[in-house]
Amino acid sequence: MHPEPTRSPEPAQREPKRCSACTQLKPAEDFYASHGRLSSYCKACQWQAARRAYRRRRDDPAARARMRAVDRRRKQQERARLARLDPDRERRTSRARRAAARRLIAAHHTEYLRLLRHELAVADRGGEHRG
Ligand SMILES: [Zn+2]
Repeated sequence: MHPEPTRSPEPAQREPKRCSACTQLKPAEDFYASHGRLSSYCKACQWQAARRAYRRRRDDPAARARMRAVDRRRKQQERARLARLDPDRERRTSRARRAAARRLIAAHHTEYLRLLRHELAVADRGGEHRG
């Protein structure tokens, strides 16, 4: 019936649509679809809105702390999920990290010694430095 591209995953509206934010008439592909419906904002406007919201939250210390807590929890849950799927993963990963660190040190031995001396000096002063 419709001469639509067969790759479109949604049976949603495929006619051009007007974005509620920028008021431009845009092709359906310029809108995200969810549950078979197109978003009222175009992708560009949604991206900008997300960016503005992120900056607002980032500039607010309390919101930033909440974002970090959410991020930390998400990472913990992801690690736990991966550990359930593959109990040996953590051990393999840490072994690979140690091996990579050894090779990195061998490849940049002079720089490693310089950094090590610096870190030891910092530690001797009480280790107040970060990085
Ligand atoms: Zn728009």
